[in-house]
Parts: sequence; structure tokens; C-alpha cells
Amino acid sequence: MTFSDLGLGPDVLRAVADAGYVEPTPIQRQAIPVILMGRDVLGCAQTGTGKTASFVLPMLEILAAGRAKARMPRSLIIEPTRELAAQVSENFATYGKYHRLSTALLIGGTSFTDQERSLGRGVDALIATPGRLIDLFERGKILLSDVKILVIDEADRMLDMGFIPDVEKIVGLLPRIRQTLFFSATMPPEIRRLADKFLMNPKEISVSPPASPAALIEHVVVVVQPDHKREALRKLIESESVKSALIFCNRKKDIGALVRDLTRHNLPAAELHGDMPQSKRTETLDAFKRGEIRLLVCSDVAARGLDISDLSHVFNFDVPHNPEDYIHRIGRTGRAGRSGRAFTIAAPEDGKYVTAIGSLIGTPIKRMETAGEPVLALEEDSGPRGRRRGRGGSKRHGGAHPAHSHAPQKPHATQTPNAPPTSRPAPHNPHPTHEPHQTQAPAPQRPAPHRPITPHPSGPPQQRAASERAPNDHRESGAKGFSDDLPAFLARPLIIKGDKRD
Ligand code: AMP
Repeated sequence: MTFSDLGLGPDVLRAVADAGYVEPTPIQRQAIPVILMGRDVLGCAQTGTGKTASFVLPMLEILAAGRAKARMPRSLIIEPTRELAAQVSENFATYGKYHRLSTALLIGGTSFTDQERSLGRGVDALIATPGRLIDLFERGKILLSDVKILVIDEADRMLDMGFIPDVEKIVGLLPRIRQTLFFSATMPPEIRRLADKFLMNPKEISVSPPASPAALIEHVVVVVQPDHKREALRKLIESESVKSALIFCNRKKDIGALVRDLTRHNLPAAELHGDMPQSKRTETLDAFKRGEIRLLVCSDVAARGLDISDLSHVFNFDVPHNPEDYIHRIGRTGRAGRSGRAFTIAAPEDGKYVTAIGSLIGTPIKRMETAGEPVLALEEDSGPRGRRRGRGGSKRHGGAHPAHSHAPQKPHATQTPNAPPTSRPAPHNPHPTHEPHQTQAPAPQRPAPHRPITPHPSGPPQQRAASERAPNDHRESGAKGFSDDLPAFLARPLIIKGDKRD
């Protein structure tokens, strides 16, 4: 089947051909004809399946007939994070290059004035995060009564982030007669309830996730004392042929220092985290995608669903305490069937977190030693810190069971590389200063996840939400993996009688 069999017009087909797509993906094959017929869709699909084009391409076709009025968008796409919203907006520009449709991106951290100006010109497709959309609506800058197509993307992630009340509020502001396209990677009962509420006689489409990135990636852990981590990272970067790499820190306060350290050692690096102004975040990410930045030291804000092509390496400067965060981090490499390499620098006391990750990915994590560094064992449980649970991670995945531990029982000597039974070939040309060798690999306790891993913050939304309007929050210093946007009801100031909001 080709794209021309799906009922798309010549302008869309030309743009798709320019993008280099030959064949529609399964979600595109199933969703595009149904959307073109005007039906609601309930899509169970995750990023990496071609989901964005599955709704953007038919939307372009539908929107091509008609014109937008000022401040009255004709379609609305709601995304959970600013980065995902920006990515969808880029997709609209790519696929809509032969159309004369206008889009606007309403996300936090950017100027209201520019956004209001673009709304004033009339918008065919409005792409927004919930917080900023509600803000602008409440300021009277936008009318939602002309929205004919609504897309709710990544619904389960919105749930995780505490955005569902905002989404329900937004949907309540839309005309009842409209076409609704609802996408979620998973369908827990709460999401199903929303789908039942928002959709009318939808066509249900479910596609299997793309090959698990974990299976395409080579996973390596290097164990050093905490004060040797920077040096170990530099050695790794120097010994690997790194085309481009993300380097993840658990705490954003460590990011700047690590950037300076790398740069001082002739490894120029840039930073990306939630405390940076949105304009700087976007600029940095764009420069990284263009290849102008090779090493990007970041917090987990960079780990969510971003489509960064051809990333050769991910380095975890710290072991994520929640193994699901590991999946998000390493999922930035090994995309579109490419292989990738993920290195994790662990301190001995990180043993239980490494075990939990091994269990979750179902692929052995190889141990690698660094020349000149003592051979250290990963401790399974090491006093109060070792006993503490990461944010629900090992608890949920039963990671640190002694029977499944891959912590060495005693320090091991460097040995001849002994390829583990990974699902891809043994590593290419290990560097002489790093001799990979298999220690007791974690016995996979379950197969690599076949569903996307989503964070499950443990607290109520009030404790979880991070704010696009509160840049100095601490979401990355202890509360990792939280949202970019604050649910509007939390951000709303207390209105005291006689007080004016603006
Ligand atoms: P998404 O699931 O929307 O995040 O898309 C994942 C990646 O697949 C993006 O880089 C798209 O450019 C790419 N893509 C989407 N549709 C196709 C297709 N039919 N053929 C090849 N690549 C595609």
C-alpha cells in the first residue's frame, strides 16, 4: 500500500515524498482513511509509530477547504509537553509545506504577545499545552467555538502529569459537534473513561509499538567511586566514536558543573534543563538536532518523546533511580531501527538501581572497566541509601531480588570480553582502555516492555506538577520526570475580592 491509496491529495503526497516516506506505517494505513471520512478515532499507539503524521496528514486535507477567522482556531491539538507540541508544529510545517495553512504554537515559557498576535491573524491548526491554552482562554484572547477537529495526543502522559482536569475543561469549551482524534500509548481505565466521554462512535485502532529501543541498544555500566565519575565520563567519550550524545544527570544542579568540566577538558558541551528560558531550550535543542552541538548535558526534561535522529550515544552520568526513566533516556538513541550505545556510570551503592534497570529492559547490562580505575563491585544494599526505594521503580518491577542480582559477589578481574546473549551482535571494536566483560548479567525477569513506559508520580497533582510559570521549581532535583506544564487550577492566583488578575 502507498500513501496515494489512502485518499490524500497531491500536495500532501508531494510533501510526504519530500520527507522520504515510501510506505505508510500501520497506524497511518488505518487512521488516515477513517479520519478523512470524518470519523472519530481512538488510537492506541505510541511515539515512534508514525502517529503524528497519521493525524496531521488528513487534517491538512480537511483544513485545506475553509479559512480561519481571527482568534477562532479551526482545529486544536493538545500535547502534554512543550517539546512535543513544538515537534508536532514542526511536523505540520513539513507535511503542510505545499498548503497555505496557518498554525500557532501555544506553550508556556514563551511570549504571550507573539502568541496573541498569531491568534489574531487566524489559525487553522492550534497546537497547545493545556496550561497555556487555558491561560489565554481566560484572558479572553481565544475563542474555541469554531474548533472542528480536536486531537488529544499522549493522553496517558497527560494523566501521569495531572493534566486531565485541564483537558476536561478545555473539551468542555469546544463545540459538541466536532471530530475528535484521541491517542494514547496505553488504555488504563481512567483513559478509557475519558475516551468514552469525548468520542462519538470512534474507530478503534491499535498498533504494536515499534521494536523496543532497549533491544537495539548496547547497555554498558561502568562502576567507579562517585568522585571519579567525571573522569570516567571523559574517558568514555574519548574512547567511543561519539557522533552526538545526550548526557543525563539526576540533579539539574550538577549539569552546569559537568558542562564546565567537559568543556575545560576540550569536550565542548551545552546544557538543557527545565530552569532555562523556553527560548534558550528550543535554541539549544535545535542546534543539537542540526549537529552544531555534539554533547548535550541534560535533565530528564530532554528524555520525553523527543525525536532526535541519529543519536549515537546516551550517557547516564547518574543511574536513574526509577528504571522507567532509564527507558525514556536511552529511548533517545536506537531510534528508527538504528543501533545505539548507552553507558551508565554507577557508584558501588547504585547496585540495586542497576539491577532494577536490567530487570526492566530484559537485556543484560555489561560491565566495563576503566583503565587505571580499581575494579569495584556493585553493592546490592548499602545502608540507608541502598535500602531506600527509588521513586517506586524497583518496588514495581521487583528489581532487587537477591536471586536475580547481578551484583558481583566479589570484585572481578578484567577478563577477555565475553559477549552476553544480547539480542544484537556483540559490540563493535571495544576501546583498549575499556574492556567490556560480562559480570553476572541480570537474569531477565520479564521481556522488554511492549508498552511504553510512563512515569507514575506518586503524589497528587498538587505535589507533582511542575510549572511553565514557575521556572525555579525543583522538579529535577528530587521530583524527576514531572511535567513541563502546570495544571491551570494550580497556577491560578487566589483572587481576593477587588483584586484584578491582569
Ligand atoms: P512519530 O511516531 O510521529 O513520533 O514518528 C516517528 C518518526 O517516524 C518520525 O521521525 C517521523 O518522521 C517518522 N515517520 C513517520 N511516518 C513515516 C513513514 N511513513 N515512513 C518513514 N518514516 C516515518
